Amino acid sequence: MFAVYYIPFRVNCMRPILVVLVFCLLVSLLAAPLAAPAVTQSVNYAEEVKTIQEDARVKAAFDHIDTDRDAILREWIAITEINAPSKQEQERARYIESLLRKHNLDIRYDAAGNLIATRKGTAGRPVTVFDAHMDTVFQPGLKIKATVREGRVHAPGVGDDTRNIEALLATIRALDAANIKTKGDLVFLFTTDEEAGMSGAKHYTKENKGKVDYYIALDGGYEGFTYAGIGINWYRHHFIGPGGHTRSRTPPYSGSLPLARAIARIYELKVPTNPSSNLNIGMLGGSEVVNAKASDAWFTVDLRSTSNEVIADLEKQIAAILEEEAKREGVTVKTDIISSSPAAVLPGNRESHLVKMAEAVHRAMGFNPPIGNAGSNNSSAALLQGISSISTGAGPCNDAHALTENCEIEPLYKGIKKILLLEIALAGLSQ
Ligand SMILES: [Zn+2]
Repeated sequence: MFAVYYIPFRVNCMRPILVVLVFCLLVSLLAAPLAAPAVTQSVNYAEEVKTIQEDARVKAAFDHIDTDRDAILREWIAITEINAPSKQEQERARYIESLLRKHNLDIRYDAAGNLIATRKGTAGRPVTVFDAHMDTVFQPGLKIKATVREGRVHAPGVGDDTRNIEALLATIRALDAANIKTKGDLVFLFTTDEEAGMSGAKHYTKENKGKVDYYIALDGGYEGFTYAGIGINWYRHHFIGPGGHTRSRTPPYSGSLPLARAIARIYELKVPTNPSSNLNIGMLGGSEVVNAKASDAWFTVDLRSTSNEVIADLEKQIAAILEEEAKREGVTVKTDIISSSPAAVLPGNRESHLVKMAEAVHRAMGFNPPIGNAGSNNSSAALLQGISSISTGAGPCNDAHALTENCEIEPLYKGIKKILLLEIALAGLSQ
């Protein structure tokens, strides 16, 4: 009885205290900065990977990759020859989908056109996503014909990022052939529009935040990996003036004059190497015809740094130069932001389970992996959503983004084994 009376009384005066407690809890959860899940117990990563490598099923999967070599090369070329400019990846996606449908996978597309194939684990978690982007930088309508010579395959897009698409498909075949079951789910994610702003990965990571434990963006690289992303800002700066005919006497001159002066001064700016930073002026434009002054003279700037402070500082210095040169010629300046992706640094990620396991897998495959913080790919989208992430690749290639792009063939088979081992090490072998 006593108890009953006591509880209601107690409850009333407890209510405000409870409300405050719940409020504090909520604030601390919301205020907690995004951070990589810390390594909870001391894991001997090298030992763990060695045990996996010695498992008969894993050996069988590796053997399957060796017997699958010709099919891998044929399929790699077939996918490469389907041109897939950013935002126009549908034809390539359908072809990849037709290959995935031969396996026991949950296959769907999301609103961004990403093709998602989940290989269910026996325990569901952890959920590990392996991403290869489907798009390339090449123009619509480009006829792509791959050629193989001296151990290399030559074709636009063969490396970035088609070699990694093929690597994922080959690992799925090897997992099935060796009848490997994992504890966690493996999500094979074929993303859209990486090259023009990572919109596919941004959509997927935002929509699946909290459901993904590890995100591996397969893009550049082979022997090593990155655990953080470089900030990338793209601008188009315009000098706007009255224009006019070449013979017109009235100043101001063509917008190209302040443009030329501004570019010369921008290239005088000190761009630090530590933190790793880059500045490039790639595209330019002016009047449509020779005998006209440019009423809109423009140029693009690609500004990158692993430090957002460096980007902000250079951005400010460039803006000051633009203003001064515009004023000097009595024209105006206008800046468009083409795309902006901040440096992606997730506190604790360098020491995370994912990074330690990735390092152990690379070493177990015989690499002495360079581990960098300046990735510029879909991994940044995941890190900015607070998802532990790295980026690496399945093979060495040259001339990315050029028509002369080409990749060594032999190393890809080792690269595929590396990715297979990483899949199993992160998802966990199930009995
Ligand atoms: Zn790429």
